[in-house]
Amino acid sequence: MGNLRTALLAWLFARSTGRDFLLRIEDLDRVVPGAQARQLADLAAIGLDWEPPLVRQSERGARYAAAVADLDTYECFCTRREILTAPSAPHTPDGAYPGTCRNLTPAERAERRATRPAALRLRATESAFAVHDVLYGEYTGLVDDLVIRRNDGTWAYNLAVVVDDAAQGVDQVVRGDDLLSSAPRQAYLATLLGHRPPLYAHVPMVLGPSGARLAKRDGAVTLAERGGPGVVLPELAASLGLLGDTPRDMLDAFEPAALPREPWRLPGLT
Ligand SMILES: [Zn+2]
Repeated sequence: MGNLRTALLAWLFARSTGRDFLLRIEDLDRVVPGAQARQLADLAAIGLDWEPPLVRQSERGARYAAAVADLDTYECFCTRREILTAPSAPHTPDGAYPGTCRNLTPAERAERRATRPAALRLRATESAFAVHDVLYGEYTGLVDDLVIRRNDGTWAYNLAVVVDDAAQGVDQVVRGDDLLSSAPRQAYLATLLGHRPPLYAHVPMVLGPSGARLAKRDGAVTLAERGGPGVVLPELAASLGLLGDTPRDMLDAFEPAALPREPWRLPGLT
């Protein structure tokens, strides 16, 4: 229900402004077998349509590698624990990578390579960056030496979305507001790669009965479990202050400024 509501919003933002609606399979991480097909079927079942091609991140490694060649990066050998316990440089903001591996000598790097595979980090020259969000306005957030490629060789999500958005001509990004704090890093990275950052719309999340982000364990949370499109679409519409049995019905009254700013607690769960 959380994904469907955000997808419906993304579709409404796109279609109400004459944009294409693009879909991308973000499968750099572990993939649940069958999940992609079910998610696409659910989107189609609630009446969302999208323009081809359907892009899969798992097939785009060459593009990510080409982008990284244009960036100033360095190898990082830190474990998660080392990052949490490392002393920070005096001007490093809270939550930022402390810079442990930023200035290793070639000899120090060679020594560490023998014990641990390296992740790749961006050598950032800013500590904050501002983005424009339709719902949040001007939002400034932390930028640090973010991971570009993990030490298992997986491309970082922050890099992949920036490269893909630029390649697909994405100029508007609509997604859950749990990702708002990532937007400044991504917009900064886009700028470094010579791309104009997109306009963002970070929309409120759907919550479960405990007030935490909606999860499978909360019960009837999928399209099928809640009774299908005939039940779910009016429910989603009402949660957005809209009316209609199809996404097209909701387009006329759709107005970003009128959207609820609070998370939506999914009803009917205990
Ligand atoms: Zn490090």
